[in-house]
Amino acid sequence: MTSAALASLNGKSPTILGLQDVRVHYPMGKDWLGRPKALAHALNGIDLQVRAGETLGVVGESGCGKSTLAQLLMGLIKPTSGTLDWIYNNARERSSNVQIVFQDPQSSLDPRLPVWKVITEPLFVQRSAPRRDMREIAARVASQVGIRTEYMERFPHQFSGGQRQRIAIARALSCDPDIIVLDEPTSALDISVQAQILNLLAELQRSRNLTYILISHNVSVVRHMADRVAVMYLGQIVELGSASEVLERPRHPYTQLLLEAVPRLGVAVDDAQVSAPTELPGNRNLPTGCFFRDRCPKATAGCEKPQALLPARVDVGVGVGAARSAEWVRCHLQSV
Ligand code: ADP
Ligand code: MG
Repeated sequence: MTSAALASLNGKSPTILGLQDVRVHYPMGKDWLGRPKALAHALNGIDLQVRAGETLGVVGESGCGKSTLAQLLMGLIKPTSGTLDWIYNNARERSSNVQIVFQDPQSSLDPRLPVWKVITEPLFVQRSAPRRDMREIAARVASQVGIRTEYMERFPHQFSGGQRQRIAIARALSCDPDIIVLDEPTSALDISVQAQILNLLAELQRSRNLTYILISHNVSVVRHMADRVAVMYLGQIVELGSASEVLERPRHPYTQLLLEAVPRLGVAVDDAQVSAPTELPGNRNLPTGCFFRDRCPKATAGCEKPQALLPARVDVGVGVGAARSAEWVRCHLQSV
């Protein structure tokens, strides 16, 4: 954890990004008047504050809205409703302030470009540096991620998977962002290479005071990297808190179910994946009441109440006064 992240846990680090009740609904199909036949409810009221210098882990099953959240932060899609506020370093273009590293460097790097062009692509797009400087910038960033500068004329396929992910990280760094969204950054890599990439990311975070939003299926990756963890279910954050609280003392029945799929602490959990026993219910017709109640082993009749009547958040922080940690769950059973 960086000192900035530590300060943020004590409430001292500035909020860099705030989301208020953000919804993203994708239109599905069209009727004869061109109106959408149905909506995919990808995000359903996300409230989130990201603090400068922290690593915020985001976990949840496939289809819960993680990539939609990433695209939203990248400015690639707009919220259907709700607001995103870039609170810190507001003067900068969002496009240079937030960058992304995808899961699979094989498909995310343009195979036709030499590495120096791959790395400086964001700068080309934004025209934020003179063309004649690009080779030099690429070489400088490459050396920071452990890619030899004499390889700058090579093409992505001439590198190993781990090296390609280093190149993807260099590309994200080329325009000196404050925030990097890491969307399953090591899932496509061998275990031994995963650790190297995670260590590199941790080192870069320290030296550049980066803020990471780390999307991952892999609990051991999140445990290793994250200061705080947000657990997503059907487009909502159902539990948010410090990584140690959420992963070691999960409060929400969904988080408990996810973590049951992972071997107990202290056991090697290198390739443990978050997976829950049954299918995620469709998000075209959202359930009324608590979204999780159909799968929840603890559900009671009260969970069927419309969402508006259920508490949106139940504070479950530990400690007292100003030292109280900011942990919450979206489960009314915690308050009864
Ligand atoms: P995750 O990354 O957690 O697997 P996604 O954000 O990709 O989840 O998807 C969330 C939900 O939104 C899924 O039900 C998915 O089918 C739907 N969805 C994502 N992108 C689109 C799209 N472009 N059009 C329609 N539905 C989409
Ligand atoms: Mg995804």
